[in-house]
Amino acid sequence: MSDAAQYRALVGDLLTWLRQNETPQGAWYWDEDPAPVVEPPAKEAVAPKAPAAPAATVSDAAPDSPDDDPFAAECEAFVAAAMERIGSHRAESEALPGLEETAPPADPASALDALRQEVLPCIACGLAETRKNVVFGSGSARAELMIVGEAPGRDEDIQGQPFVGRSGQLLTKILAAIGLRRDEVYIGNILKCRPPDNRDPLPPEVLACEPHLRRQLAIIRPRLICCLGRVAAQTLLRTSTSLTRLRGEVHFYGDIPVLATFHPAYLLRNPAAKRDAWNDVRMMKALMEALAAADPGRGA
Ligand code: SF4
Repeated sequence: MSDAAQYRALVGDLLTWLRQNETPQGAWYWDEDPAPVVEPPAKEAVAPKAPAAPAATVSDAAPDSPDDDPFAAECEAFVAAAMERIGSHRAESEALPGLEETAPPADPASALDALRQEVLPCIACGLAETRKNVVFGSGSARAELMIVGEAPGRDEDIQGQPFVGRSGQLLTKILAAIGLRRDEVYIGNILKCRPPDNRDPLPPEVLACEPHLRRQLAIIRPRLICCLGRVAAQTLLRTSTSLTRLRGEVHFYGDIPVLATFHPAYLLRNPAAKRDAWNDVRMMKALMEALAAADPGRGA
């Protein structure tokens, strides 16, 4: 790396660190991998490296007093409106085909494993010809939260697991910031096989693969779905509405409430968006808690 490039990288690190610490609690900081250590360029003044910021903790994320947290009132209003919407939606609508057809399995883990064995050899669309592995999904069969992305990428295709690599590490940190481990949620994608060159899913592929997702949902029965990224949200919700407008509102997949936020890969490219993403996941956490309080019998 040239001296100029090293200098730009250091200044970039410093600006990112400053932006990330602008929030009231400085709590939404999902630290990246440590910045590469670079030697200061010879005979050139070098900006001081920013000190390492602490990783987010749940206590950071939940200030003691609402007065300390300007976002708390907004979050409370969101949850109240969302719960009202969920109540009226469920009274008026029916579950999607495939979600209502069976009683909850007595042993969701076994049912999910049986479904995995069924899906692994799937050749229902053309992606079967180019994939290395079917990425079925991972996590708890009793998860209250299901994370849904659009499709596996290169690393996921190679490893057969969803959200691995840098995006996956960031997702793990985002979940940890609201007190969740990856094995407490379920993480999957709308498509189980990688589209070539990570292109967007095509409608026939979504049509072919969606029954797998519905059967996963029928087994897991999460309280809430969180779509990561524009493509996942637009595809699942069958809409062309922008992610900007989809965020901060509750939507529905059948009778399951759906929220949408940024894809971790986008956050890696645009660290300034982490502030909005942090607000999204705090609203998601608050809505999860309200749904659990309204239906305490549905334990994970
Ligand atoms: S993307 Fe879905 S429908 Fe297509 S081959 Fe893979 S598992 Fe089957």
